[in-house]
Amino acid sequence: MRILIHGGFFSESSQSNETKHKKQQALLEILNQGKDFLKNHSALESAVYTAKLLEDNPLFNAGIGSQIQSDGKIRMSAALMDGVNQKFSGVINIEDIQNPVLIAQKLMKEEDRVLGGIGATNYAKDAGFPMFSTETAERRHEFLTKKQSLGTGTIGCVVQDRKGRLAAATSTGGKGFEIPGRISDSATIAGNYANEYCAISCTGVGEDIVSGGLATKIVTRVTDGMPLEKAFEKSFNELKPYDGFAGAIGVTKKGEIFYQESHPKIVFAAFNGEADIVFT
Ligand code: ASP
Repeated sequence: MRILIHGGFFSESSQSNETKHKKQQALLEILNQGKDFLKNHSALESAVYTAKLLEDNPLFNAGIGSQIQSDGKIRMSAALMDGVNQKFSGVINIEDIQNPVLIAQKLMKEEDRVLGGIGATNYAKDAGFPMFSTETAERRHEFLTKKQSLGTGTIGCVVQDRKGRLAAATSTGGKGFEIPGRISDSATIAGNYANEYCAISCTGVGEDIVSGGLATKIVTRVTDGMPLEKAFEKSFNELKPYDGFAGAIGVTKKGEIFYQESHPKIVFAAFNGEADIVFT
């Protein structure tokens, strides 16, 4: 059993040490809840459960506490990937829903597994999810004072369950101030990918992550036999020519876990099968 979670990038310049500490504490608590749940649930169920807890915490930029776009609205994206059957599902630019990852979970059972914009919002409404504003006073204040701080905390979770099955979940409120219609990496296979060998969740500048095909690339390298750490290093080196800004967490079938960031600091926590680890 392994579980890794991330809370996106932490900005030393625009966020206080107190915020950093709060995020670390929150990650550790959520990691422990996720770990307990994982004892009796599959990797996929546990990835959803843990991502929902992260979405519900306003400290992170996903679900409650999402960033606000240039037109003053919040549009969120989330994806889920089941390593067992390689099914990917997700929502892109959904509005007024508390937990985008739960809509991604519901879409797993549909033939049409990725929905965008108004279609995603209507699907959630029709499925009985209540309309819910995920805006917080803090994000509105940041928006009104035009404070742009990338990395106020997209969330992600990768899991290996007791049967060795893998899953990945990623959820974001986006970069903040984006042009309405912009598509984040989080609900694409560049930002969230898993198969039977490896599961990866990314955070950072979505455009850079998509340019690097990051999550898929790392998973493919591990599938072809590369150790996880090497697959991370090679893939992150390939971001360098364009100074790509990204971070990722990963777990493999063999139980390897790893994380890397192109620029400091991504906040994350992990259970490596024996002990908890919290890092920024
Ligand atoms: N990757 C997200 C996006 O570009 C933002 C983030 O991870 O902080 O939408």
